Amino acid sequence: MAKKYEGVAIGIDLGTTYSCVGVWQEQNDRVEIIHNDQGNKTTPSCVAFTNTQRLIGDAAKNQASSNPTNTVFDAKRLIGRKYSDSVIQSDILLWPFKVIADDNDKPMILVSYKGEEKHLVAEEISAMILTQMREIAGAFLESPVKNAVITVPAYFNDSQRRATKDAGDIAGLNVIRIINEPTAAALAYGLQKRANCVEERTIFIFDLGGGTFDVSLLTIRNNVFEVKATAGDTHLGGEDFDNRILNHFVKEFKRKNKVDISGNSKALRRLRTVCERAKRTLSYDTEATIDIDAIYEGIDFCSSITRAKFEQLNMDLFEKCMQTVENCLVDSKIDKSSVDDIVLVGGSSRIPKVKQLLQDFFKGKELCKSINPDEAVAYGAAVQAALLSEGSKNVPNLMLQDVIPLSLGMRTKGDIMDVVIARNTSIPVKNTKPYVSVVDNQHRMLIKVYEGERIKASENNLLGFFRLSLPPAPRGHISVDVCFAIDADGMLNVSAEEETSGNKKDITITNENGRLSREEIERMIQEAEFFKAQDMKFKKKAKAINALDDYLYSVRKVMKDDCVSSKLNPVDKVKINSAMIKGKSMIDDSKEEGTFMFVDCLKELESVFESAMNKVNKSYFDEESDSDS
Ligand code: AMP
Repeated sequence: MAKKYEGVAIGIDLGTTYSCVGVWQEQNDRVEIIHNDQGNKTTPSCVAFTNTQRLIGDAAKNQASSNPTNTVFDAKRLIGRKYSDSVIQSDILLWPFKVIADDNDKPMILVSYKGEEKHLVAEEISAMILTQMREIAGAFLESPVKNAVITVPAYFNDSQRRATKDAGDIAGLNVIRIINEPTAAALAYGLQKRANCVEERTIFIFDLGGGTFDVSLLTIRNNVFEVKATAGDTHLGGEDFDNRILNHFVKEFKRKNKVDISGNSKALRRLRTVCERAKRTLSYDTEATIDIDAIYEGIDFCSSITRAKFEQLNMDLFEKCMQTVENCLVDSKIDKSSVDDIVLVGGSSRIPKVKQLLQDFFKGKELCKSINPDEAVAYGAAVQAALLSEGSKNVPNLMLQDVIPLSLGMRTKGDIMDVVIARNTSIPVKNTKPYVSVVDNQHRMLIKVYEGERIKASENNLLGFFRLSLPPAPRGHISVDVCFAIDADGMLNVSAEEETSGNKKDITITNENGRLSREEIERMIQEAEFFKAQDMKFKKKAKAINALDDYLYSVRKVMKDDCVSSKLNPVDKVKINSAMIKGKSMIDDSKEEGTFMFVDCLKELESVFESAMNKVNKSYFDEESDSDS
């Protein structure tokens, strides 16, 4: 039985474009998807830095057009990847924020915060979003939250999974499980629909989000969810469709105005926002218009795009999705006619052409639209979180059996990848294979661990390596048992043992993959605390400024009222006016002053104003009582 964790645990869908958080509610026997402070159930996965503060979520997204170079999004596309990765190289051309490489080829995001240049890794940006999701949940539950299940695309590799876990650590979360997004969606679907079915049902999850695409084929029987196969693309989703529309309009603008806006990040950011909106419109309308005032050098941009044009611009990407669907079914060895339910997940699964291609693929079978595509993943994550936490009651006794998305193996002679655990094997899993020495008196064996489907090991993704010392012996006489163990998070541990000498070693996945060291994570936790403290400081100051501003407003109103102001003692009037001038100039110059200055200024103004008003009131009551007698 899985270990149970103390206290409540939340489920977080850490998306490329939006994130969502849910928690199991035992009173209602269901998951509550939690609203953020704007009243939205999804929060933009976006962080912005300004001269005065850091913003996360809606606040960051809302100011993106005016501060494009310091508004960071898409951290999920960067996480666990190297800077030289071709995916990163092509994305960099589209991002308005700057990304450079550190000495280990790890991408670093450059932003200006309070006038200073800051270098941040994707894990830190994701940690900021996770912190926000944790706070949203904490506010709803009225108590701090520590434990969380975080979802990742099923097709995330080992280094992307580990980096996501690191992001959770930096956010101060105890990440009790990493689960695959489509599996989480299946949990949500199964729970809502047919968890109790005795007969086996085969379910196909089609999860097309903002930046990633995943499909999974599962069976559900007697509350046991068994993933049979999974496939996907960690770089395919709504943002790619937005980019196609964006490029289309950049070309059109150039054609019409003879001006190229492709190098202007502010113009591009504004155009991208309307492109995304147009794309959403095209899911229910056949034409969408865009209208941007003074997009570049005072030139307005008005245009439109039809659904047919949108489909034409993206057809190759849609077909790529269908190829992945096909691959998953082939891997699962299950015929498409045996699929009982096709479940749509992820915002981009609303695109009519995508739905039509999918329905055609399954020979006209109706697609299930009963679950909310934006919330299903967080819903399933929250169910898994509840199953793992002691604090949750009345959770249906579901069992989840997931698979690994990519084969894992060792490099052997001739750069051949020897698969130790094949892709789509159920996890957790452990497999041991013997490897013999290949030369006489071989004094050590190099254990090089790879992930991927290529026959040549070097064409796969290197996860790490270590060397094991061997006793002298003729070739083929020494055998090393290499054990690959994958835990329930889908993370790998490799150990090797030579029996006669008793030599044993474990792999440590280190910076070959740009993984953060424990020291770096500790440093980032400190930095996250620093950012939090700065945010609190900023909020406190903003609150003090607002309180002073509100008070000034009401005093100004009273002073303008002749009835009252004529009764004020002239000396008090001067005192009030000078306190008001002081307050106003302090607000105008707010950058320079500390919070306590505003608090003190408000106290001073309150004191002079209230004492003056007391005198006015006193003289009024005195007059009243005189006239009464
Ligand atoms: P997710 O990662 O599941 O939150 O999906 C976010 C993506 O879904 C973004 O790229 C959105 O632009 C896209 N999206 C949301 N609603 C729609 C819609 N009605 N039509 C097309 N795409 C949508």
